[in-house]
Amino acid sequence: MPKTYYCWRCKMPIPFLTRDEWEQVHPLLVTDFERIKSHRLKDGETLSSAIAALRHGACERYAQITGFAETNPNALWHHHLDIYGPECPACGHLFRTPKASFCANCGWRAGHIHIDWMEISSLDDFYRRVFRQMEAPAWHGANLDALYDSWVTGGICPTGPPFEFRFTSQIADARLPAGVAGVILETAGRSVAENGGTIKIAEAP
Ligand SMILES: [Zn+2]
Ligand SMILES: [Zn+2]
Repeated sequence: MPKTYYCWRCKMPIPFLTRDEWEQVHPLLVTDFERIKSHRLKDGETLSSAIAALRHGACERYAQITGFAETNPNALWHHHLDIYGPECPACGHLFRTPKASFCANCGWRAGHIHIDWMEISSLDDFYRRVFRQMEAPAWHGANLDALYDSWVTGGICPTGPPFEFRFTSQIADARLPAGVAGVILETAGRSVAENGGTIKIAEAP
């Protein structure tokens, strides 16, 4: 199944092909570009008018797989997952290369904890998001005492403390029980006071 991610080149969400799917599309793409090339040589057309004049097997196969009607076969070269890294645990965009150690979209890297209050839809969602960023062990408790243990006492998560905390948007935007966001912020401050690291609190533009 293809998965949709934001494409930073196309500046929109796009379905990305898995390796198996790409192996079905890639040979068609090679053939399509041979046809585009000979069409251009014959008629002296520009690349874009040659692309517009022809049918493209790769686009048709891509549409069958993804349901997305791509008209430009050129874009398919970068719409498969193998050339990217993992999904950013903070913002969900793809790392731009397999070897990238940080997210070019949000700046997250191992040891960072980014919380955008506006995106938190529930207390469970908060824990899911921070656990992913912390690489929390499966047995990590989803409660504020357990969070204190891993952020302040330490020795539980491989990524820290110290942590680089970043909080954006207004606390009031988080759909959390009353008072919880304040305790989370205090715990982050305590983590930095005792273990080092940084805490940045910025409102989203
Ligand atoms: Zn793209
Ligand atoms: Zn990110």
